[in-house]
Amino acid sequence: MHEMSVARSLIKSLEEIKDKEGLLRITEVRVKVGILTGVEPSLLEKAFYYIKRGTSFEDTNIIIEIEGIRVKCINCGYECIVKAYNYACPSCGSPEISLEGGDSLIIESVKGL
Ligand SMILES: [Zn+2]
Repeated sequence: MHEMSVARSLIKSLEEIKDKEGLLRITEVRVKVGILTGVEPSLLEKAFYYIKRGTSFEDTNIIIEIEGIRVKCINCGYECIVKAYNYACPSCGSPEISLEGGDSLIIESVKGL
């Protein structure tokens, strides 16, 4: 399951943040999951709760937000969020669009003590 390795690397990132910020524990992590990552938020949540057991993140809650595919038209500069990347600009019809977001998993914020 893809989500298990994502959850594992999430824990690793949290360890780094915890050390860097000098936190005793992290109570909440908010992540933004781009649609194009193929990560299923409910599975990621389950995987995170499974993997955090026995670690120092046992009390950490995870909040997952889904990020749509953000594209920008190279031709006219129009920006919008779409459901699928197979796409032409709705403003000018140009197929030359660039991907601006929705293809990555980002730790947006952490709350800790
Ligand atoms: Zn356009």
